[in-house]
Amino acid sequence: MPDKGHQGLTLWELPGSIVSEAQWRAHRAQLQAHEVFHDFEMQRLGADGEPVWVSVSGEPIFDGEGRFTGYRGLARNITERKRAEAEIQRLAFFDELTGLPNRRLLLERLERAAAACERSACHGALLFLDLDNFKNVNDTLGHESGDHLLQQAGRRVADCVRSTDTVARLGGDEFVVILQGLHAREAEAAVEAELVAQKILRELNQPYDVQGSEVHSTPSLGIAMFRSAQPPAQELLQRADLAMYQAKAQGRNTMCFFDPAMQASASARSALEADIRQGLQRREFLLHYQPVVDVHGTVLGAEALVRWEHPQRGMVYPGDFIALAEHTGLILQLGRQVLQAACEQLVRWSTEPTRQAWTIAINVSTREFRHPDYVQEVLDVLRQTGADPHQLKLELTESLLLHDVEDGITKMQALRAQGVGFSLDDFGTGYSSLSYLKRLPLDQLKIDQGFVRDVLTDPNDAAIACTVITLAHSLGLEVVAEGVESQGQRKFLLRNGCQRFQGYLFGRPGPAELLAVHR
Ligand code: C2E
Ligand code: MG
Ligand code: MG
Repeated sequence: MPDKGHQGLTLWELPGSIVSEAQWRAHRAQLQAHEVFHDFEMQRLGADGEPVWVSVSGEPIFDGEGRFTGYRGLARNITERKRAEAEIQRLAFFDELTGLPNRRLLLERLERAAAACERSACHGALLFLDLDNFKNVNDTLGHESGDHLLQQAGRRVADCVRSTDTVARLGGDEFVVILQGLHAREAEAAVEAELVAQKILRELNQPYDVQGSEVHSTPSLGIAMFRSAQPPAQELLQRADLAMYQAKAQGRNTMCFFDPAMQASASARSALEADIRQGLQRREFLLHYQPVVDVHGTVLGAEALVRWEHPQRGMVYPGDFIALAEHTGLILQLGRQVLQAACEQLVRWSTEPTRQAWTIAINVSTREFRHPDYVQEVLDVLRQTGADPHQLKLELTESLLLHDVEDGITKMQALRAQGVGFSLDDFGTGYSSLSYLKRLPLDQLKIDQGFVRDVLTDPNDAAIACTVITLAHSLGLEVVAEGVESQGQRKFLLRNGCQRFQGYLFGRPGPAELLAVHR
């Protein structure tokens, strides 16, 4: 407590005390009333000139006549605790990597910004940006480089806005900007927001220097305008996010404003998602089988194609739900049901002499195949059902393998070692590079039906179909023509060396029981 020279002064009146007027005001009444006080926290300059936090408790001293003579008290150094508190604050509200506000602080500030706009009758804008193909940077250059790029991107965005605006990182490669104090008229406010968005686009299009190498990256940007506390912050964020996805759909490296039509299609998507989820639970998905035949029309096996027997909508085809199932991850559950059903079908056929040699091909989505447990899962289902792995074929697409070729090859080899076969579906529509095709442990190529359709009329398609057949032969692979609808197409393909066919000419996809032995 106060030393002799400062008798009569309280600690916070000593030179070197850093007590704000607000703190002092709150405390003064207590002192004037000569009350006991506990844990009054304040800063002082320490001997080395650094601020020190102290917590002071005191009790009044009265002389024999009950006259107040001063305070007796205890001061504790709480600098360490204060430092820890500040650190916890930082961790709770700021992103470790970039030092920018995190989602929690963003939402808080967004609420405040919206309320401020409402009071001052101006507009605000929420910009949601996501780096295009950022995963590639991480995958090819490593996470450390990815981190460097994110830090630089964060700084660039912050440099594009006023210091009163907020730039936050939501996580991953997603950043959000809150612009405040935009024009009162919406059209003009939108122009202002667009100018900032353009500036951000321009800045993020500049090459990055990542640990000595030049890296190019682009962002996609979604903008949602606001002028009041409605809609709530969380929903506003979803709007900007939706607009960002629209920008991605428009080819990336661009911006897009939110409009209510997006909301409508997003609601439709989430309704469908819930519907698929329920359909999976109620086992509404079933398989139809389409025959694959040889040159004599003898059935060699079938491709399993999933159908949704919807209680209200009737039969729903994969074009209406596979993409969303992939996007939401529900494909993992759906794929498991498909695999299970196909294996059970193989077991059923294994007791029929005319059908026991048939193979079943199932379609595998990128998301399923990339799952770390995929190989084990397939092997488990094979074992549980007792299906012969040699009669199961997995149809993969080129894009699926492109992403991480090494991982793909490892998984294929592991399954192949147990007898499972592999087919490359829709061949010719992807980025097929010969060099990587040679390395894949495949059994079969399927010529995409897009080429088969016009094989008799479009010389270009005919040339592609023939090249695929030649290519398959030179790699020692089987080749199947998909979507064969006419005898003319069949003959042309046959003449050019194709010996396996699938298409309406031989049979439409249908229930397993309807699959005839010969077409
Ligand atoms: P895909 O694997 O290329 O399957 C061939 C598609 O062509 C099927 O459409 C089939 O009904 C159709 N098709 C067969 N023959 C002909 C023909 O002669 N002419 C014409 N115009 N079309 C023919 P579907 O059943 O609508 O399936 C579409 C796509 O959905 C499939 O293309 C496949 O990529 C995907 N898919 C189907 N089932 C599954 C599944 O269980 N899992 C996953 N991940 N995808 C699936
Ligand atoms: Mg297929
Ligand atoms: Mg196909």
